[in-house]
Parts: sequence; C-alpha cells; structure tokens
Amino acid sequence: MIRLFVALSLPEALCDELSMMCGGIPGARWVPEENYHLTLRFIGEVPGWQAQEVDDALAGIRAPGFDLTLRGVGTFGKSGRISALWVGVEKTEPLVFLQSKVETALQRGGLEPERKRFAPHVTLARTDRAAPEKAIAFVQAHNLFRAAPVPVDGFTLYSSRLGKEQAVYEREVEYGLLDPKPAAAIRA
Ligand code: ATP
Ligand code: MG
Repeated sequence: MIRLFVALSLPEALCDELSMMCGGIPGARWVPEENYHLTLRFIGEVPGWQAQEVDDALAGIRAPGFDLTLRGVGTFGKSGRISALWVGVEKTEPLVFLQSKVETALQRGGLEPERKRFAPHVTLARTDRAAPEKAIAFVQAHNLFRAAPVPVDGFTLYSSRLGKEQAVYEREVEYGLLDPKPAAAIRA
C-alpha cells in the first residue's frame, strides 16, 4: 500500500518567506520548509495497481496554469482546541477549476468522492500540544500576511510516509498545466 495525495508545491523563495514567520509557540510542531504544500486532494492508502490508475487519471487532466496568492493565517480545530495553523490561499477560479478536475479524474479512476469542501491552505504547524492562546496570538500577529503571487505550471502526486516526528513526502509524478489563459487581450 502507498499513501498518496495530490498537491501544489511552492517555490523555494515563498517557502523561505513562510518559514520566517514560524516559531514562538511552545509545543507547536512546525512543518519543515521542504514539506510545505497545498493539498488539492488527499487520497490515502491505496494498493499499487490503484496508484497506477490514479496516475493515469491525473495524467489526462487538461487545465490552465495560473497565479497563486497566499494571504492571511488561520486555524483548524474544534471546541476550543486548535490543531493546526495555516496560511490561507486565495480561492480563485482557476485553482478551483484544477481542484475539480482532479476530483473528477480520481472518481473516474475509482476513488470515492471527497465529501469535505475544498479549503485551500498551507499548513505551517500542528498545535494540538500547544496553548491555544499562543496559536491565537500567532494568528493575530500574522493576519495581514500577503505573499506576492507565484505562477503555478503544474501539480504533483506525492507519496507520504508517516513518521514519529514528521511525515516524509516524496514527489512521485509531476503533471504539467497548459499555458495560462492570456489576460483580456489588448486590442489597438
Ligand atoms: P501526519 O498525519 O503524521 O501529521 P501529514 O498530515 O503531514 O502527517 P498525511 O496524513 O499523509 O501527512 O497527509 C498529507 C496531506 O494530506 C496533508 O496536507 C494533510 O493535511 C492532508 N490530509 C491528510 N488526511 C486528510 C483527510 N482525511 N482529508 C483531507 N486532507 C487530508
Ligand atoms: Mg495527516
């Protein structure tokens, strides 16, 4: 069995910028910079033959590239507990288009539909062992964060091996996107 997810990787300069925000919360488990990603679809554990079908399905996707903008920070958790800190992502039309293409492709490849609504984010830390007040203070301190837009020209099928400390992700396959749609053509 192999644990898979589909995600966008982020340029190194952007990862550097994100990692500079991190720190200052006792008990938080910060995601190592090389692990930053934006999950489009979590697949989970599948047998090898199904991984092959997933790859075939993803390889058939035709979608345009686009610019991605990260902004704001937020939390996941419930009933007073905060389990994760993340940086938000502008939920633009081409990002949602790609995510829905991935979803339909995977369903055609035999996976059960994802029931959770797509909430694009980049996880910075797991905070289930940290004081919630510290996580809230982090959000307040960084809420105005906004990164320069970065071009996205592909997406990645990652494998994940869960470890004691951090999961080890491997980029298994990269899939290209089409040339971005030109902005409204300027006619003389
Ligand atoms: P760990 O589970 O040890 O904390 P991780 O969450 O980084 O490590 P995975 O569980 O393999 O590693 O998850 C890979 C990616 O998929 C992460 O972005 C994670 O948030 C996301 N993910 C994991 N499980 C789900 C799920 N059930 N639904 C949606 N996304 C998920
Ligand atoms: Mg997980």
